[in-house]
Amino acid sequence: MKHCSHCPSILAAGAYFCSQCGFISSNGVQKNLLECENHSDQIAIAVCIVCGKPVCGDCAIAKDKKFFCDSGEHINIDGEYVVIYSCESEFEADMIRQNLHQAGIRSLSFSFHNHVGTYWNQDRALVQLRVSQSQAHQATDILRNLGLLNNIDESHLNN
Ligand SMILES: [Zn+2]
Ligand SMILES: [Zn+2]
Ligand SMILES: [Zn+2]
Repeated sequence: MKHCSHCPSILAAGAYFCSQCGFISSNGVQKNLLECENHSDQIAIAVCIVCGKPVCGDCAIAKDKKFFCDSGEHINIDGEYVVIYSCESEFEADMIRQNLHQAGIRSLSFSFHNHVGTYWNQDRALVQLRVSQSQAHQATDILRNLGLLNNIDESHLNN
């Protein structure tokens, strides 16, 4: 059991980066290092907690102990939309989004697979579904009714 060196979270077994803050752990299981997506000559220090883009120290934007990519808008997205579900495939995410859409709930999905390959995240569900704070309870109920209990993220319910 290893703790993230940037936040209090415990890293998942074999995890290369922290799922809570995006910080790349230096205890590296891997020998190779992930490069910044903007600068291939720079080593990434974190992945964006919203989209998974690897960023170097110059590109990373840190806020509230979390790391974001240089797009700027992902900080706002993290503030307005909470993660309610994580799964392994874009296909599953799309299916769930359709159900939410039918209930009048707008959702966003981000696939870390677009940025970091399976080499860097071996045992994590990295397609994340987000809905706005105000619809999070309603959306979580819908997921429960669909029988999707395993990957529901209820941390937002404590806020
Ligand atoms: Zn962390
Ligand atoms: Zn991002
Ligand atoms: Zn960079």
